[in-house]
Amino acid sequence: MKLPRTVNKYCPFCKKTTQHKVIIVKTVKVRRGLSFGSRRAREGKKGMGNKGKYSKRPISQRKRGVFKVSKGVDIRLQCSVCNKQHIWVIDGRYKKVEISMFSK
Ligand SMILES: [Zn+2]
Repeated sequence: MKLPRTVNKYCPFCKKTTQHKVIIVKTVKVRRGLSFGSRRAREGKKGMGNKGKYSKRPISQRKRGVFKVSKGVDIRLQCSVCNKQHIWVIDGRYKKVEISMFSK
């Protein structure tokens, strides 16, 4: 999917329609290593008894024969007036998302 470099959209901070810069956010997974859920999962992987849903070793997607190629996208708009960002909701999953070079 190709996106334009700039779009005219409603800015919730300025409360009017202004020009926005399109930004594609590369998602970063933040793992909280000491949270209860991850500690519990680590315990289960050790194979120490039955630990509910973590009792078995997880099977990777590759082993199951599932290959997901597309991804959900996180696209934000930056207002040219107040420089604040807000999310632009785009439905569906896409293989590749880029900002087109030939738009204004
Ligand atoms: Zn604004």
